[in-house]
Amino acid sequence: MARPEDSQWAIPVGQISARPGMSKPVDGDFPAPSGIGDNIVGVREGDSVRVHGSFDSIADGLVFMGRFTAPMHAECTRCLKPIDRDWDLDVTAFFPYDSSQAADTRHGKHGEVDIVAGEDEAEDTYPLSHDGGFADIEALLRDTMVEHLPLQPLCRPDCKGLCSQCGVNLNDNPGHHHDVIDNRFAALAGLKAQLDEEAQAKKSD
Ligand SMILES: [Zn+2]
Ligand SMILES: [Zn+2]
Repeated sequence: MARPEDSQWAIPVGQISARPGMSKPVDGDFPAPSGIGDNIVGVREGDSVRVHGSFDSIADGLVFMGRFTAPMHAECTRCLKPIDRDWDLDVTAFFPYDSSQAADTRHGKHGEVDIVAGEDEAEDTYPLSHDGGFADIEALLRDTMVEHLPLQPLCRPDCKGLCSQCGVNLNDNPGHHHDVIDNRFAALAGLKAQLDEEAQAKKSD
């Protein structure tokens, strides 16, 4: 059976486990777990995710607070331009000593979590290894990123998208437009073009 510390996402927390008030900083790069998004928007498996924050020991577990910075790849849903940028996510998660508490809170006892955390938001809860020696953040990384993936990624908030008639990128061509000809006048316009052509032909005679 795999030991908890063999995981690429295991963070040793034994020195602060069961010692309320103690804190351990975390600052390092971890590989992105599989299953975050798809070809349209996501984080590629194995890409480096920066984890910056700390574990704080409280009475019945460890609280992780910090920030994930991940290289997100996406395609703008309006202009289809590829987007590659760092993506910052602020995270709070609870690693209780009693892992049954983790299971319980996941199934609706959000009131308890709120009291423990002292926050309005219900937190995500993850198990520690059995001896309290390791916190494995693989699931936390995956859940956090999957939950916050933008549904409609944009290259910029005011992306103008593509011209619906010819597909030109309107961000690159701000003045782009088509002369819209009302159907009723289309015949007239056609007639005018014909007359112009004839006039042109006469001139060149
Ligand atoms: Zn765009
Ligand atoms: Zn156009």
